[in-house]
Amino acid sequence: METATEKLRLSQISPRIMQSEIRSMTVECDRLGGINLAQGVCDTEVPSAVVENAIKAIHDGHNIYTRLDGIAPLREAIARKLAHYNGIQADPDSEVLVTSGATGALYAACLALFDPGDEVVLFEPFYGYHVNTLLSLRIQPIAVPMAMHTWEIDFDVLRTAITPRTRAIIVNSPSNPCGKVFTRSELEQIAVLAEEHDLFILTDEIYEYFLFDGTKHISPASLPGMAERTITISGLSKTFSITGWRIGYLTANKRWLASIGYFHDLTYVCAPSPFQYGSAAGLVEMTDTFYNEMAVEYQAKRDLLCGALQDAGFTPSIPPGAYYVLADVSSVPGATAKEKARNLLASTGVAGVAGTAFFTGGRGENILRFCFAKRDADLQRACNLLRDYRA
Ligand code: PLP
Repeated sequence: METATEKLRLSQISPRIMQSEIRSMTVECDRLGGINLAQGVCDTEVPSAVVENAIKAIHDGHNIYTRLDGIAPLREAIARKLAHYNGIQADPDSEVLVTSGATGALYAACLALFDPGDEVVLFEPFYGYHVNTLLSLRIQPIAVPMAMHTWEIDFDVLRTAITPRTRAIIVNSPSNPCGKVFTRSELEQIAVLAEEHDLFILTDEIYEYFLFDGTKHISPASLPGMAERTITISGLSKTFSITGWRIGYLTANKRWLASIGYFHDLTYVCAPSPFQYGSAAGLVEMTDTFYNEMAVEYQAKRDLLCGALQDAGFTPSIPPGAYYVLADVSSVPGATAKEKARNLLASTGVAGVAGTAFFTGGRGENILRFCFAKRDADLQRACNLLRDYRA
């Protein structure tokens, strides 16, 4: 029998922080030997400059802690990239922090900026880590639903979600899971609200180069007057296919950056040293052509997967960015999205993830998310299997 005592127990928040459904689908998919379109594991080639310079750094003895905000060549390369691509001016010595992925950046920023009981508004469908990072710090996430399938924002709903306890709005553009790319007009309206209510904007731009059909990425910090209140987060996990290296970064006004850096140091000490060198070389070496070609390559993957989902009788929302598709799979048997995901895996060998991982209040029960960041041969095989599906 379990012994329950007052003190030998989990924290109160622990039961609310669930094992991600994405991971459990991955386990189930591996068990059945299926093709995993559930997880955003980007298993495409890592650019050779990135690999070679990381290996060289290990041989050259760069195996010890770095400065807490990262090595100078990487901070400088990030500052150049921010100016060139994002229209953000950042001092590499005081306004750039190299982090343990975008995930570590968000965690450290929340530790440094918010107090337990504060509220942070974010858009639904959301990325689960955003919600769980807030919850784990006893910050209340307030989800503002976007219109199903068009992912338009109702600004009246957004306005009413803001209370005296609200401290920030999280923007994720291009978005995981729906691929929405926020327009300038949407960002301007969010900026007006942020100024009116004196809020931070936390923006996760990890998919900033994954843009299709000529869509352009706009960083909220580049809008007039927004730089001081905006914490911009990105990373190299996705662009260089190095999700396991844990290299991300954050830029913010120096008023905030030092504290965010201390909290990052407390949790992670620094991002892995040799991988910082590999990443710096990659940022220096890669030209716009590399990123543009990557977007073209991913657009073809998107089209392939969306076509197969349609052929299977599903209704995908065609994403203008990132590398996921949300599809309505009402025709798949199952009372819940989790059951539908498991039934589809059992009958086709293709794993998607239940839409309920990204929505509150039962929305998402007819939706599955599929990831197309896969090698062409695997994606092709998954698409063939999906096309043969008959409910
Ligand atoms: N942010 C979003 C929106 C993501 O989808 C992911 C990964 O799936 C991450 C952050 C994780 O980034 P990192 O590997 O840099 O921690």
